[in-house]
Amino acid sequence: MKTSTSWHPFTQMEEFDQLPKVVVERGEGCWLEDVDGHRYLDGTASIWTNVHGHGNPELDAALRDQLGKVAHSTYLGLSHGPALELEKSLVEISPPGLERVFFSDNGSNAVEIALKLSFQYWQLVGQPEKTEVLAMEGAYHGDTFGAMSVGGGGLFHRRFEPWCFPVHRFPQPVCREAGGVVEASSDAASLDALAAMLEDRSGKVAAVILEPWVQGAAGMRLQPRAFVREVSALCRQHRVHLILDEVFTGFGRAGPMLVCAETDVRPDFLCLAKGLTAGYLPLAATLATESVFEAFLGEPAQNRQFFHGHTFTANPLGAAVALKNIEMLKNLLAGDDFPARMEYFGNALRNHFMGHPNVAQVRQRGFTCAIDLCPAGALAEVFPAPARTGLKVILKAREHGLLLRPLGDTLLLVPPLVISREEVDFLCRTTLQAMDETLQTHPSSNPHL
Ligand code: PLP
Repeated sequence: MKTSTSWHPFTQMEEFDQLPKVVVERGEGCWLEDVDGHRYLDGTASIWTNVHGHGNPELDAALRDQLGKVAHSTYLGLSHGPALELEKSLVEISPPGLERVFFSDNGSNAVEIALKLSFQYWQLVGQPEKTEVLAMEGAYHGDTFGAMSVGGGGLFHRRFEPWCFPVHRFPQPVCREAGGVVEASSDAASLDALAAMLEDRSGKVAAVILEPWVQGAAGMRLQPRAFVREVSALCRQHRVHLILDEVFTGFGRAGPMLVCAETDVRPDFLCLAKGLTAGYLPLAATLATESVFEAFLGEPAQNRQFFHGHTFTANPLGAAVALKNIEMLKNLLAGDDFPARMEYFGNALRNHFMGHPNVAQVRQRGFTCAIDLCPAGALAEVFPAPARTGLKVILKAREHGLLLRPLGDTLLLVPPLVISREEVDFLCRTTLQAMDETLQTHPSSNPHL
């Protein structure tokens, strides 16, 4: 019998209908509570968005304050205080040169907008032949057609390929790191491939797009920290745009406020969403340089303007909460406790999972982590897909009060940035317990149980 008429994202509903349901009612700090009163640690930060915890009093107050004024007013031909202030704040935290802000409402749209801006820019400056995009293998930039096209063409998007535009792809660098210890690192092959592509076709290339430092949806595939600088240098050298997609890595998720500012990389476009509102409301922004902006200026009859917009562009509630988030995040990142907790998280992951017989690899940077599961002792092997091993582990974790989401048989641990040391211990201990109960690993092989 149907228990609900919802159709969930990325979900085989035939399977979902058989699974136990969690209906969330409230949240406080890093915890969510369901309608039956069960509490769960939010181990996905509500899909990589939550920064200061649920029900944060300061964010709630900022939201209520704005609600007392106006919930929504269009940004088409009008503006409002929260967005005007937020623009200033975004420009201030971004690398020099990014001075224009185009608002939208989700990460896919932020990417779509950067792609369209780049595409139109080259027409406006008399180089309409520059239409191609270069992207990294395994990339994920969202689910609209432009974003899917530049994505890595994996399982999520394969069916839609015939409707996507062609993109040239360069290989991922190799980087394995957890708890600050780099296990493997090399980016020469990736950079050489990109350089060769640009040598060959830069006259036709509009932009290179990259998720800097971490490809999240690819399973936390890491890059050496300086890789983004090398990519940026190649883009400058060959006069193609650099689009950085910090939808996932931005707002402290990978450590710094923004990876581009931390690495002193100045992209032509910067895409932001997810943590922008601390996980409260759907809001996104695409930042562009002043020189890109100027190319769109002209007489109305010339039709040079950017023909793109969304109904809820720059929603005032989202803008008000984003503004407060950034103010709070600056304080959080400036203190000693944040890096210390991040280090604690990395060490806890190393201690709990490295060397475990069912773990092929652990990758972690900032408050992001992926744990690749494997059959006991067989690091190079995978579980048969129909076994649904990753799903079974996260369902077991749920029974013990932890919400996680698997990516196949990779467990992704992405908690709110304010997670405490005790909560990190709970996150690791419960994940381990769920793995061992599901995979029947002998508890004596796990010193932490
Ligand atoms: N870009 C990156 C790097 C992402 O990780 C995501 C979502 O996970 C997106 C874009 C798409 O964002 P949204 O789901 O808000 O459309």
